[in-house]
Amino acid sequence: MVNSTYQYTQTLLGTTVSLILIEPNETVAQVVFDTITQLENRLTVNRPISEVMLINLAAGEHSVVVSRSVFSLIEQAQKVSLYPDSCFNFAIGPLVKLWKIGFKGDRVPTEEQIKQQLLLTDPKDIVLNPEDHSIFLTKRGMEIDLGAIAKGYIADVVRLILHQHNIDQAIINLGGNVLTLGQSPLNDDGYWHVGLRKPFSVTNELAGIIKVKNKSVVTSGIYERFFIQNDRLYHHIFDPLTGYPLDNEFESVTVISNSSLEGDIYSTFLYGLGLERGRDFLKKHQHLSAVFLLKNKTIVLINSENFSFLLLDKQYAMSFS
Ligand code: ADP
Ligand code: MG
Repeated sequence: MVNSTYQYTQTLLGTTVSLILIEPNETVAQVVFDTITQLENRLTVNRPISEVMLINLAAGEHSVVVSRSVFSLIEQAQKVSLYPDSCFNFAIGPLVKLWKIGFKGDRVPTEEQIKQQLLLTDPKDIVLNPEDHSIFLTKRGMEIDLGAIAKGYIADVVRLILHQHNIDQAIINLGGNVLTLGQSPLNDDGYWHVGLRKPFSVTNELAGIIKVKNKSVVTSGIYERFFIQNDRLYHHIFDPLTGYPLDNEFESVTVISNSSLEGDIYSTFLYGLGLERGRDFLKKHQHLSAVFLLKNKTIVLINSENFSFLLLDKQYAMSFS
């Protein structure tokens, strides 16, 4: 057992990114941060130019050929967006840009503005051509947004890089999107401890601890990016049918999975399904586990054989299924 780790931190992806290693390794940390920077430069839609923005800027005009990796990520984003009843929608960009949640100028738009943008968010209006890796947004004003999937993809790439450098025990944390490698040498039982935030706690308290080995732990919540107007909370995951933030019993959804890409996709997807449909989905997908934190202060653990959970805040009640 060891009792200390080495942490490297940078501000990237609009959040705090950290890498925890068992042995100090400045060189590997630099390779990791450089790679994240390169991937962010390709995938971001929060800057005028990126590979994804080139697709968006050509909307309604022409298709754009992209790299193999960006094409494959967009292919997966489209697949999940086309699932029946999916609230996950990679064509959500026009709504994200309208509401500006988490950015300067966020406010509730008018009904008319929302109606207009909704016309530009049909994932079927995005044409992917696997022959030449080109993508075409068929209507002017459409925008791809990979905000609900990019961090998961990037975390998996970082894991690959660490393995290439023969590092098989580490934690990659992309602003709450956590990927643990191997077993933890910090604890006798080999579990890594990943904190589950208590929603809206100003002092960053934890509701509990999720203990895992070699797993990804990704949380989608309503308390990270939001604003309050006329006593109502507006957060950053939208209902593609109404154009308003999704409203259901969840404060957060955490997915425990093998890959961080899956974790990122399904934390957003399950958030959209709500409690009952989310539970049914997970019963059919036993390789995914989840922790649902409900507004009524219940914590629901689903498929809990893949992790263990320690409740820290006694305000919450536990429920297993
Ligand atoms: P976080 O960014 O906190 O990790 P998510 O993974 O759930 O949370 O992603 C939320 C982001 O995904 C939003 O900031 C936005 O860019 C985008 N988004 C918002 N609503 C949807 C949706 N219905 N489907 C897919 N992406 C969405
Ligand atoms: Mg997500």
